[in-house]
Amino acid sequence: MTQLPYTHAPLERAELLRGREDDVRALTMNARARFLAVWKEAHAVDEHQRAISFGPEILSHAATHAATVIFLGLACETPWFALAFASDEGPPAVGAASFAGLREIWADTEQALASRLVYARAMAIWHQNHPRCSRCGAKTVSTESGHSRTCSACGYRNFPRTDPAVIMLITQGDKCLLGRKAEWRPGQFSTIAGFVEPGESIEHSVRREVAEETGVVVGAVRYMASQPWPFPSSLMLGFRGEALSTEIRRDSDELEDCRWFTKDEVRAAESGPGTLLLPHRSSISRWLIEGWRDEN
Ligand SMILES: [Zn+2]
Repeated sequence: MTQLPYTHAPLERAELLRGREDDVRALTMNARARFLAVWKEAHAVDEHQRAISFGPEILSHAATHAATVIFLGLACETPWFALAFASDEGPPAVGAASFAGLREIWADTEQALASRLVYARAMAIWHQNHPRCSRCGAKTVSTESGHSRTCSACGYRNFPRTDPAVIMLITQGDKCLLGRKAEWRPGQFSTIAGFVEPGESIEHSVRREVAEETGVVVGAVRYMASQPWPFPSSLMLGFRGEALSTEIRRDSDELEDCRWFTKDEVRAAESGPGTLLLPHRSSISRWLIEGWRDEN
């Protein structure tokens, strides 16, 4: 199977450097340092709508716009940082850059850079969404080089969150179970997915979500791979599951449609009018479906 998008060339996270502010400040001035600018949920792009990184010269813009500087880690000797711009007054002026969503620019982005963009994005969004302490509600400030936010009143340290979600391709013989949400483009179907709830195992979560949304009973489940999915803060845990029943009783609040598709129907996807449309190429859903489709 092909490698999942957003999992290529992980940075050495160098967590021992976090919080050593003098050392990290020196890394920001390193001529090789690279900075990924995130404004709200968008990434800096050039005039061709391609993702770009900046050198240390961007730090003056960061200071002007009160951006949060987050140390991401090292690639060989090169330090990488995220810059989280949160202004409500439009995108910051950083050189000639404009800002664009990750899904729109992903196809033209080199895979290692795409993986760094999701990391930068996950951290930036967390900072934006957690200006206050989850315990007492007072203001927090960025600490540990951007890897925590500490409460100015009670001292509580708030850490970045990752929400586990299960996403599963349910099969029976030559068929797989796909559903669609009303807001998707017409004809698009995807694997079933949902959040893991407190107090349950991920295997239980797979069976519960499929039963709730489709009425299909799932037996054996097998873990396949995971993918960071910061839209805004998920970790997708990908599974295959074997259906023990085929009758569909759809939850109409969750799914507008739900069907069994044969391998031939999946092979014919996106080949002409009226054929199945698959989820975005960067998604683990697409990866699960295509992996199954390409098996003998
Ligand atoms: Zn507090």
